[in-house]
Amino acid sequence: MTEYIPYGRQSINDADITAVIEVLRSDFLTQGPAIEAFENEICRVTGARYAVALSNATAGLHLACMALDVGVGDIVWTSPNTFVASANCARYCGAGVDFIDIEPDTGNISIAALRQKLQLAERENRLPKLLIPVHFSGRSCDMQALSELALQYGFSLVEDAAHAIGARHQGVSVGACRYSRATVFSFHPVKIVTTGEGGVVTTNDEALYRRLLRLRSHGITRNPAEMTDPPEGAWVYQQLELGFNYRMTDIQAALGLSQLQRLSDFIQKRKVLVARYRTALADCAVQLPRADADADSAWHLFVIRVAAERRKAIFDFLRQNQIGVNVHYMPVYWQPYYIQLGFGRGLCPQSELYYQQAISLPLYSDLTTDQQDHVIALLQSIL
Ligand SMILES: *Cc1c(COP(=O)(O)O)cnc(C)c1O
Repeated sequence: MTEYIPYGRQSINDADITAVIEVLRSDFLTQGPAIEAFENEICRVTGARYAVALSNATAGLHLACMALDVGVGDIVWTSPNTFVASANCARYCGAGVDFIDIEPDTGNISIAALRQKLQLAERENRLPKLLIPVHFSGRSCDMQALSELALQYGFSLVEDAAHAIGARHQGVSVGACRYSRATVFSFHPVKIVTTGEGGVVTTNDEALYRRLLRLRSHGITRNPAEMTDPPEGAWVYQQLELGFNYRMTDIQAALGLSQLQRLSDFIQKRKVLVARYRTALADCAVQLPRADADADSAWHLFVIRVAAERRKAIFDFLRQNQIGVNVHYMPVYWQPYYIQLGFGRGLCPQSELYYQQAISLPLYSDLTTDQQDHVIALLQSIL
């Protein structure tokens, strides 16, 4: 029997397990010291001033939209080549959503397509309040170019960096928020670093940070300076707005803190595997991701593109051989929920073509070279 090789999976070592056990033996399972230690480490890794740990990245996207006052009547733009959460967060706030087509060789939103759509939207008085670029596969979008357009057209930027912890762009760590209001990371087990479920928002904006902290916990503050009246006693807390319970547990934060010590090792291993895929597949009938960001991408995904007519046969063959290949992503607006909102085929032709050709190959730090060679041999045999 051949073993199943998934497209992504977590790497848990003894240090990770020990870190979790220590929390289990401690006084706090949630809202204890591990959260702050984890948030501080996220700040150190990204270079951001503030970090807010959350139950997952979807919660982070939701709270970032809320904290930027996205609401009914507003429009949020994002990439169609993403997980549904990048668009759903705007819908939670009652805002409308629209999608910008992608660059075919990176899967990130196309600056040219964005510029064109902005010119049209300006004429029609439908400019977005917020743009959520997605750093697809771990490779950063050109945030500097996006920020110039954001300034020109007056919209905010929140980075969906669910794929991109540890990535850099033009020498700056993703999450530093040099060009954005906030950045959101995911710690789901298929992502680069895991907390089981988990997410974090980074920002350099103190007011935004305080608002995110409040919204994470029901809209409640215990800080007298934020209260409407001086508190009657030390027991008083005030709910200032309608928030959520989006907290991360200390059990998760301790796992995350331990995992972050391994981040550069994780990414180094992913880069080695990517280089091996590139060499092995150089002469095959596949299109590989553009190579110019190899050193800077965090390499969450390695997506090859094959002829659309052959994609299903190749995918099925690999699955039949216990290779857990996947497809990232069907354009979000092809989901029935978004079709009901009025979206249809043809909106983003590059994204639609990408979807029809894409296959995500197994890529994770514990993937052995033997396992990878097995994937490559199967792929070469069908190509
Ligand atoms: C995984 C993912 C999310 C959601 O992350 P969760 O932590 O599962 O909520 C959002 N955006 C992208 C691009 C993702 O890949």
